[in-house]
Amino acid sequence: MDDCLFCSIAREGAYVHKAKGFVAINDINPQAPVHVLVLPERHVDTFREIGEFGAKETKQMLEFVAETAAKVGLTDYRVLVNVGAAAGQTVFHLHWHILGGGPDALAEVPAAVGLAEPAQAELEL
Ligand code: AMP
Ligand code: ZN
Repeated sequence: MDDCLFCSIAREGAYVHKAKGFVAINDINPQAPVHVLVLPERHVDTFREIGEFGAKETKQMLEFVAETAAKVGLTDYRVLVNVGAAAGQTVFHLHWHILGGGPDALAEVPAAVGLAEPAQAELEL
Protein backbone atom coordinates (compact mmCIF):
# COMPACT_ATOMS: atom_id res chain seq x y z
CA MET A 1 0.00 0.00 0.00
CA ASP A 2 1.61 3.23 -1.16
CA ASP A 3 0.44 5.55 1.59
CA CYS A 4 0.97 3.18 4.52
CA LEU A 5 3.69 4.07 7.04
CA PHE A 6 4.36 0.48 8.06
CA CYS A 7 4.45 -0.75 4.45
CA SER A 8 7.27 1.74 3.81
CA ILE A 9 9.04 0.82 7.05
CA ALA A 10 8.74 -2.88 6.17
CA ARG A 11 10.26 -2.07 2.76
CA GLU A 12 13.05 0.26 3.83
CA GLY A 13 13.08 1.01 7.58
CA ALA A 14 15.63 0.09 10.25
CA TYR A 15 14.75 -3.25 11.76
CA VAL A 16 15.82 -5.33 14.73
CA HIS A 17 14.86 -8.63 13.12
CA LYS A 18 13.78 -9.66 9.66
CA ALA A 19 12.83 -12.96 8.10
CA LYS A 20 10.91 -13.91 5.01
CA GLY A 21 7.70 -11.88 5.11
CA PHE A 22 8.12 -10.25 8.53
CA VAL A 23 9.99 -7.34 10.06
CA ALA A 24 10.48 -6.23 13.68
CA ILE A 25 11.21 -2.58 14.49
CA ASN A 26 11.71 -0.52 17.62
CA ASP A 27 8.64 1.48 18.58
CA ILE A 28 9.31 5.20 18.16
CA ASN A 29 7.48 5.95 21.43
CA PRO A 30 8.34 3.03 23.72
CA GLN A 31 5.92 2.15 26.50
CA ALA A 32 8.37 -0.26 28.17
CA PRO A 33 12.19 -0.55 28.36
CA VAL A 34 11.96 -2.82 25.32
CA HIS A 35 9.10 -2.11 22.93
CA VAL A 36 9.28 -3.78 19.55
CA LEU A 37 6.66 -4.01 16.82
CA VAL A 38 6.31 -7.01 14.52
CA LEU A 39 4.90 -6.24 11.08
CA PRO A 40 4.00 -8.60 8.29
CA GLU A 41 5.36 -7.19 5.04
CA ARG A 42 1.98 -7.94 3.53
CA HIS A 43 -0.53 -5.18 4.24
CA VAL A 44 -3.69 -6.00 6.13
CA ASP A 45 -5.42 -3.18 8.00
CA THR A 46 -6.11 -4.90 11.30
CA PHE A 47 -6.11 -8.19 13.21
CA ARG A 48 -9.73 -8.59 12.11
CA GLU A 49 -8.38 -9.64 8.70
CA ILE A 50 -6.15 -12.38 10.18
CA GLY A 51 -8.00 -14.87 7.98
CA GLU A 52 -6.23 -13.40 4.94
CA PHE A 53 -3.08 -15.18 6.13
CA GLY A 54 -2.80 -18.88 5.44
CA ALA A 55 -2.23 -21.40 8.23
CA LYS A 56 1.49 -21.67 7.50
CA GLU A 57 1.97 -17.91 7.29
CA THR A 58 0.05 -17.39 10.55
CA LYS A 59 2.24 -19.92 12.35
CA GLN A 60 5.35 -18.28 10.90
CA MET A 61 4.14 -14.88 12.11
CA LEU A 62 3.62 -16.13 15.67
CA GLU A 63 6.98 -17.91 15.63
CA PHE A 64 8.56 -14.70 14.37
CA VAL A 65 7.07 -12.84 17.35
CA ALA A 66 8.65 -15.36 19.75
CA GLU A 67 11.96 -15.34 17.85
CA THR A 68 12.05 -11.55 17.92
CA ALA A 69 11.48 -11.43 21.69
CA ALA A 70 14.31 -13.93 22.20
CA LYS A 71 16.55 -12.04 19.80
CA VAL A 72 16.13 -8.76 21.71
CA GLY A 73 16.93 -10.55 24.95
CA LEU A 74 13.47 -11.01 26.44
CA THR A 75 12.30 -14.16 28.18
CA ASP A 76 9.33 -12.51 29.92
CA TYR A 77 7.20 -10.09 27.96
CA ARG A 78 3.74 -9.08 26.84
CA VAL A 79 2.37 -9.47 23.29
CA LEU A 80 -0.43 -7.09 22.41
CA VAL A 81 -2.49 -6.18 19.37
CA ASN A 82 -4.74 -3.13 19.37
CA VAL A 83 -7.68 -3.83 17.07
CA GLY A 84 -9.54 -0.77 15.81
CA ALA A 85 -9.39 2.91 16.69
CA ALA A 86 -11.52 2.60 19.81
CA ALA A 87 -9.07 0.01 21.14
CA GLY A 88 -6.10 2.32 20.56
CA GLN A 89 -4.99 1.31 17.08
CA THR A 90 -3.38 4.29 15.38
CA VAL A 91 -1.51 2.65 12.49
CA PHE A 92 -3.76 0.59 10.26
CA HIS A 93 -1.27 -2.06 9.19
CA LEU A 94 -1.43 -5.14 11.41
CA HIS A 95 1.31 -5.16 14.04
CA TRP A 96 2.12 -7.02 17.22
CA HIS A 97 3.55 -5.09 20.17
CA ILE A 98 6.21 -6.89 22.23
CA LEU A 99 6.74 -5.16 25.58
CA GLY A 100 9.22 -6.17 28.22
CA GLY A 101 12.49 -5.50 29.86
CA GLY A 102 11.55 -4.52 33.38
CA PRO A 103 8.98 -4.56 36.18
CA ASP A 104 7.37 -1.36 34.84
CA ALA A 105 6.37 -3.28 31.74
CA LEU A 106 3.95 -5.33 33.84
CA ALA A 107 2.42 -2.36 35.65
CA GLU A 108 -0.58 -2.01 33.38
CA VAL A 109 -1.57 -5.65 33.07
CA PRO A 110 -5.16 -5.68 34.33
CA ALA A 111 -5.90 -7.75 37.42
CA ALA A 112 -8.18 -10.74 36.96
CA VAL A 113 -11.71 -9.95 38.11
CA GLY A 114 -13.26 -13.41 38.09
CA LEU A 115 -12.75 -17.07 37.40
CA ALA A 116 -13.68 -18.66 34.11
CA GLU A 117 -16.34 -21.32 34.37
CA PRO A 118 -16.18 -24.53 32.36
CA ALA A 119 -18.32 -24.43 29.24
CA GLN A 120 -21.55 -26.43 29.40
CA ALA A 121 -20.24 -28.86 26.78
CA GLU A 122 -17.24 -29.68 28.96
CA LEU A 123 -19.50 -30.32 31.97
CA GLU A 124 -21.44 -32.88 29.98
CA LEU A 125 -18.37 -34.87 28.99
P1 AMP B 1 -1.04 1.14 17.62
O1 AMP B 1 -1.44 2.33 18.45
O2 AMP B 1 -1.36 -0.18 18.26
O3 AMP B 1 -1.57 1.26 16.20
O4 AMP B 1 0.53 1.17 17.53
C1 AMP B 1 1.22 2.01 16.67
C2 AMP B 1 2.58 2.13 17.25
O5 AMP B 1 3.43 2.58 16.23
C3 AMP B 1 2.69 3.12 18.39
O6 AMP B 1 3.19 2.47 19.55
C4 AMP B 1 3.65 4.18 17.87
O7 AMP B 1 4.52 4.68 18.85
C5 AMP B 1 4.39 3.42 16.78
N1 AMP B 1 4.94 4.22 15.70
C6 AMP B 1 4.34 5.22 15.03
N2 AMP B 1 5.15 5.69 14.05
C7 AMP B 1 6.28 4.95 14.11
C8 AMP B 1 7.51 4.95 13.39
N3 AMP B 1 7.74 5.80 12.39
N4 AMP B 1 8.47 4.06 13.74
C9 AMP B 1 8.25 3.19 14.75
N5 AMP B 1 7.12 3.14 15.47
C10 AMP B 1 6.15 4.01 15.17
ZN1 ZN C 1 0.76 -1.29 5.18
